[in-house]
Amino acid sequence: MDRTTQPNAKAIAIQQVRLFDGAGLVIDRATLVIRGSTIKTLGPSRTIAVPPDAIRINGHGLTVLPGLIDCHVHLCLGAEPDVVSTLESEQPAYTLLKAARHAQRTLEAGITTVRDVGSRDHTIFALKQAIETGLLPGPRIIGAGQALCMIGGHARFIGREVQGAEQVREAVAAQVAAGAQVIKVIATGGVLTPGTSPDQAQMTVEELQVAVEEAKRLGRKVAAHAHGGTGMTNAIRAGVRSIEHATLLDEATARLFERHAVYMVPTLSALATTAACRRGCGIPDSALDKARALTKRHQASFKLAHRRGLLIAMGTDAGTPFNYHGDNVQELERMVGLGMTPKEAIMASTSHAARLIGIENQVGTLARGMIADLLVVNGDPLTHIDHLRDRDRILGVMQAGRFVAGPLTQ
Ligand SMILES: [Zn+2]
Repeated sequence: MDRTTQPNAKAIAIQQVRLFDGAGLVIDRATLVIRGSTIKTLGPSRTIAVPPDAIRINGHGLTVLPGLIDCHVHLCLGAEPDVVSTLESEQPAYTLLKAARHAQRTLEAGITTVRDVGSRDHTIFALKQAIETGLLPGPRIIGAGQALCMIGGHARFIGREVQGAEQVREAVAAQVAAGAQVIKVIATGGVLTPGTSPDQAQMTVEELQVAVEEAKRLGRKVAAHAHGGTGMTNAIRAGVRSIEHATLLDEATARLFERHAVYMVPTLSALATTAACRRGCGIPDSALDKARALTKRHQASFKLAHRRGLLIAMGTDAGTPFNYHGDNVQELERMVGLGMTPKEAIMASTSHAARLIGIENQVGTLARGMIADLLVVNGDPLTHIDHLRDRDRILGVMQAGRFVAGPLTQ
């Protein structure tokens, strides 16, 4: 085992801190004790006995909350204006080195877990291994490997093109064999792939069903990229666990989300960062036009989902044009800007995100026995969500019981 993955010998106690557990509980003067890689105990300070050998941190004026989870990133993409041609011009090994740098930036921003929903070849699994063995710093990775798309479909530059039930089955099995913990399917056209339209359904209903069926057989859940209503409907009926983007949500589709308890992963940052660019910034005109046409509608869809109380988990689509790895927290600000309370936005990025991914028994909430992935913030993100985006306020990012970024790092 690499030195960096060894847990601390001593306990760590954060005392007199405001604690948000990620699931709804706030304790104003709390003490949290971490031993090894897990949370040993937590509660109001007066009720918690601190072990005599513990390293003590005075948490007065600070807030502790679970490490954040981004449910939609592409570590292999570098937020360049034209990610498709950039990726295609790179050697695969170079793309992997870039991804490693992006992983480090993501962790430093307080994102301790990511779900990577589409990568070049199977490089994401090599990166995951390097992080898990302590070779490189980075968030916990739940990876999809290649996205499954139709021939000529959206995201084929980070995907595997399939046609017909047999090819779908084979592709799902291949991703899982390579290390996929989630399967990604492309159910509509997209913004970045030239010649595809976001409101056009892609992959047939049968193909989507087979993908879900095969994934289920192998113990995996499916995330579907979908902007338009038909694609969302096809994917939800097929049995996917989450819809990524959900750009053109309407009342009827919202009811389907409810009925099937499907998560929306809004990725507000993706369309917004692209649409904010001027013509000539390097983003291909086709992508710029599509993003501009959809942004307002996307925001309305998010508001509808929030109003209806749909399950929402945070995802940024980091890696898409000007949507930088390490600036993932912008998504929380955008969600708050569109009506969520800071508490709701943090829950979408912690306990709800963990539940979507299926790791809610390990991370996403602060409770006894959970893995100690947490943030120590100077300020109060529950009243000022922007405190989370201010790097000077992130005093410590703890991953599995060790501070890995921020001034508290030993
Ligand atoms: Zn994406």
